Amino acid sequence: MSTLITNIGELVTNAPQAGPRPGGGTGSRAGQPPGAGSFAAIADAALVIEGGQVAWTGPAARAPAADEAVDAGGRAVLPGFVDSHAHLVFAGERGAEFAARMAGQPYRAGGIRTTVAATRNATDDQLRANLRRLAAELLAQGTTTFECKSGYGLTTADEQRSVALAAEVTPEVTYLGAHVVPPEFDGDPAGYVALVCGEMLTECAPHARWVDVFCEQGAFGPDEAAAILAAGAAAGLQARVHANQLGPGPGVQVAVAAGAASADHCTYLSDADVDALASSGTVATLLPGVEFSTRQPYPDALRLLAAGATVAIATDCNPGSCFTSSMALCIALAVREMRMTTEQAVWAATAGGARALRRADVGHLGAGARADLVMLDAPSHTYLAYRPGVPLTTAVWQAGHLVSGDRPAASASRGRGRGR
Ligand SMILES: [Zn+2]
Repeated sequence: MSTLITNIGELVTNAPQAGPRPGGGTGSRAGQPPGAGSFAAIADAALVIEGGQVAWTGPAARAPAADEAVDAGGRAVLPGFVDSHAHLVFAGERGAEFAARMAGQPYRAGGIRTTVAATRNATDDQLRANLRRLAAELLAQGTTTFECKSGYGLTTADEQRSVALAAEVTPEVTYLGAHVVPPEFDGDPAGYVALVCGEMLTECAPHARWVDVFCEQGAFGPDEAAAILAAGAAAGLQARVHANQLGPGPGVQVAVAAGAASADHCTYLSDADVDALASSGTVATLLPGVEFSTRQPYPDALRLLAAGATVAIATDCNPGSCFTSSMALCIALAVREMRMTTEQAVWAATAGGARALRRADVGHLGAGARADLVMLDAPSHTYLAYRPGVPLTTAVWQAGHLVSGDRPAASASRGRGRGR
């Protein structure tokens, strides 16, 4: 069974084989330095899905026949968003803390403890219901791959059930026992690190792919972080690090030294940090929703891009510092507040996220990619930033299956963005 989606106003492929289109228009353009991956798109395009994968992309006029056809009506089609940083296993909410922060109180890492208390008091079914609601919210907005962290349990039993629940909704599960030191270990942080590296890791590792640590003043220092990542690696988990969010610090260097897939936040970087990211396989994952929601300075994305670092954008969806699940909002912030081009921002939210999860099958629409697509009610990707806050996602495919939105009409009555 093959499906042809045709009359696509702009097809973002992020695939080099799309090549530059003679005559320009909204055709392919390099949005990233060589080696860091490139935005690429085809105007007036078509795409064929077969066996859950992308079988063909190219100009609509040259599209091959297929078993069924879908008319995109001139709308844009992009790779599904890849949200490589989210904290979705929790109970409770912190709306009052947000309101107080907007009234002038600063964000501190200790606020996490509020959610820890609520999460420990919740039943499995309450956590599962909240998690599934959020996962559905992501998917409906076009996020077809997402990472999900533990980190609001902070006991062996509560971390174990957090990663087990996360594994019900995504293969990209991260063990974040090292989120903060819980209250019962006040005065004994070494004892907590021993637990995180010992019994808690043993119970969580079978359900997780990744190990993460919040390396920051008020959370975990560089030696503790390195020890936790090393213990995780010994248990078969790959590293990622919350780094340099609240101030300058050792997080990025710890991440690069550990061969982490990603250093996340990267708000306060030294020249040495930028060099380390640019010369390593560690992706710089920027989370502009956090700076928006905590009213903090944004990371310097252009400095990282100019140095040749690979940049991803993710939501950091969590009940404390940033409670958005919208990759579209994060793209708009990256463009408006961090001065990324629309091409750079969309690449970072798709292919960049895939790099941060070391996934070659998502984040692009080259032949053989998983057929994860988001269709916008707009003629180009630019509208994600041009129309901030507007729900533009009209249909979402995951592995070739329409999983959200209505099947686009077979008629061409909304041809190619005329009048919009
Ligand atoms: Zn986070």
